[in-house]
Amino acid sequence: MDIMNTTDWTARNALRRTVPVICPTCCETRLLRKCDADKAQRTGAVCYRCAQAAKGRRGFAATAARYGEKWAVNHVQAWRQINRTPQELTVQRWLDLAGYEYMVEYRVATKSSGKRQRVYLVDVMIVLCGRLLAIEIDGGCHVLHTRRDRNKKALLTRRGIPLLRLSNTDVENNRFAERLARFIQENADVYPAAV
Ligand SMILES: [Zn+2]
Repeated sequence: MDIMNTTDWTARNALRRTVPVICPTCCETRLLRKCDADKAQRTGAVCYRCAQAAKGRRGFAATAARYGEKWAVNHVQAWRQINRTPQELTVQRWLDLAGYEYMVEYRVATKSSGKRQRVYLVDVMIVLCGRLLAIEIDGGCHVLHTRRDRNKKALLTRRGIPLLRLSNTDVENNRFAERLARFIQENADVYPAAV
């Protein structure tokens, strides 16, 4: 239904008074009232989702500093294993149908012990003939690489675990299947089944 053709004047006027604003972090467009839009443009404010994500990162850093990273990661892992994002579920469904074994929120940790140890979670880890293939599903229209992400990637590289990054948009538009199949195929060819 075209909202501009309806006789609902409230909805029509509400729509007219909003201005599209682009989030500087994830580049997604959100509709704001004119005054809020001006303020957001002036201060370079990010969208709600990005603000929540930043808040989450700060909270994690604080918890990790207080109780150690291992403890903090354990809690994040448990929460994320239950609360999967729709995009993660789509990828998991694809893997289920294709008959691949995988683990969600798989832990990879550096060798050092105590407070110096770094623990990371991989969104989906495929187990293929005793080998591990990592899949990360990122939000936003362009992938945001935080320092933690880079360190995680470096650790996976050191361990010889191939990594495929998919964006949420790829998954939503169903563009991931071909890339994912190719990724598995390529790595299965390089490392033939040991059975
Ligand atoms: Zn944003």
